[in-house]
Amino acid sequence: MAERAADPASHFIREIIEDDLRSGRHARVVTRFPPEPNGYLHIGHAKSICLNFGLARQYGGVCHLRFDDTNPAKEDVEYVDAIMEDVRWLGFDWGDRLFYASDYFEQLYDFAMRLVEAGKAYVDSLSADEIRAYRGTFTEPGRNSPYRDRSVAENRDLFLRMRAGEFPDGAHVLRAKIDMASSNLNMRDPTLYRIRRIAHHRTGDQWCIYPLYDFTHCLSDMLEGITHSICTLEFENHRPLYDWVLDALDTPCHPQQIEFARLNLSYTVMSKRKLLALVQGGHVAGWDDPRMPTISGFRRRGYTPEAIRDFCESVGVAKRDSMVDVAQLEHHIREDLNKRAPRVMAVLRPLKLVIENYPEGQIEELEAVNNPEDPAAGTRRLPFARELYIERDDFMEDPPGKFFRLAPGREVRLRYAYIIKCERVVKDPETGAVLELRCSYDPETRSGSPASSRKVKATLHWVSVAHAVAAEVRLYDRLFKVEAPEACDDWLATIDPAALTVLREARVEPSLATALAGERFQFERQGYFCVDPDTGPGRAVFNRTVTLRDTWARIQAGPAR
Ligand code: ATP
Ligand code: MG
Repeated sequence: MAERAADPASHFIREIIEDDLRSGRHARVVTRFPPEPNGYLHIGHAKSICLNFGLARQYGGVCHLRFDDTNPAKEDVEYVDAIMEDVRWLGFDWGDRLFYASDYFEQLYDFAMRLVEAGKAYVDSLSADEIRAYRGTFTEPGRNSPYRDRSVAENRDLFLRMRAGEFPDGAHVLRAKIDMASSNLNMRDPTLYRIRRIAHHRTGDQWCIYPLYDFTHCLSDMLEGITHSICTLEFENHRPLYDWVLDALDTPCHPQQIEFARLNLSYTVMSKRKLLALVQGGHVAGWDDPRMPTISGFRRRGYTPEAIRDFCESVGVAKRDSMVDVAQLEHHIREDLNKRAPRVMAVLRPLKLVIENYPEGQIEELEAVNNPEDPAAGTRRLPFARELYIERDDFMEDPPGKFFRLAPGREVRLRYAYIIKCERVVKDPETGAVLELRCSYDPETRSGSPASSRKVKATLHWVSVAHAVAAEVRLYDRLFKVEAPEACDDWLATIDPAALTVLREARVEPSLATALAGERFQFERQGYFCVDPDTGPGRAVFNRTVTLRDTWARIQAGPAR
């Protein structure tokens, strides 16, 4: 049952749970992940999912998936479906424990009516602006609404009629009767219900009053028998209200709310409002654009669920907000892909090379290792011929001192093949642009042959012109130029236009002709790539998942070499 029974790094929530199990306060752990279906899930949600589902798994309990769908104005079934797909993809299973807060609307209404009957809630007829003005500030207490002392009978009647649709939107609200002088603004008679004539994606026009989050959440937790209701720090000063509602109704079970610090990532925005602005403003191609920090964006980019889970675990669970470097996430992606991604050769910016002393029409099938990290991955055959493509960057006509790759008169090895020498450069007579290289090869130096140990300073990747598959390659990078875009007023101006470069002339080795959307590879010397769903008959599209080396680490360590 336990996924990480081997000494999972402990943290304060694990300690609370272990205490509760030891003391017999709870026999079984029940957690929940409660997204509002008003956007796609992002990496912050993944942190919460890993925590809630992970704790349930670790302690042999269960974790519910509950849609917190009380605000029909912003919610949509598209988001419900996407959220379920993403949670499953991350590797978690809610079994038959799928819930919707909207399924509790009738019960929530009954609970609200019980508060009314107990004199603990009242119908207020102030306008929204007046309610705000009466609430006071951090430094000044609030004032009682003139409607606060309505009789139970009047409140009952008005609340019934609110539900029956007798009043226009905004005419009344239902409020808890707590304490307008409380130092905690959330306790100053918070609104529990408001009138909103908006169709709900599940309950249609059945309701014209909707419960608010603070009222809904604690009662949904209670109805489901949640033991530990884990949420992010911004709810810490909502906890007294969470407890007040359950105490006022004297509910049979009282879940414990526990707060932890939300995940913030550098070079990333994570508020759903901002992610929606990126999508609606056309700054990205959609919620699943590989530059987005959404789970669906990461999936399309080629991140693996295992790497995301490892990252979330490595971040730990804290009580104080902080910023995690996005390089830490990228590190986990590389670690995982290094183990599993087959190596292939792909030339992103091709330069043609002709081996003049290689027989025309001859093709050799060279053996190539699929993954040096995984002997079970075996080998494959690569066609080698007289005309090849190499990377344009791997040739310089007039190389500076530290450039050890191909140049006129110089020798390099072609991976799995021969040592070649650049004999001549063919240029466009008008522009001077390098069109192709004329080379020779040394037939004695085939990889694996006795003479193959002859040393040259560089090994280049290549593909055969006649056999290679044309491909579009999308190079993705971090979406923002600054470390903390969310702190910038004009955060949209910090988008890096170079976060996507599309290369349409790339050539990949023929084994990739049959690769399917979602498959991941290491393009030797280039990085990790995956097949984009835009791939189809006659069209191959690859996304760069992450570069090979952690350039960030080198920069942090100062100029190396
Ligand atoms: P936003 O503030 O961007 O709208 P949200 O927190 O309102 O996001 P919900 O759908 O309510 O989004 O979140 C579902 C769960 O995920 C909540 O329990 C919330 O605390 C948690 N969560 C959201 N963002 C993060 C984050 N960055 N780190 C950890 N947990 C998060
Ligand atoms: Mg929320």
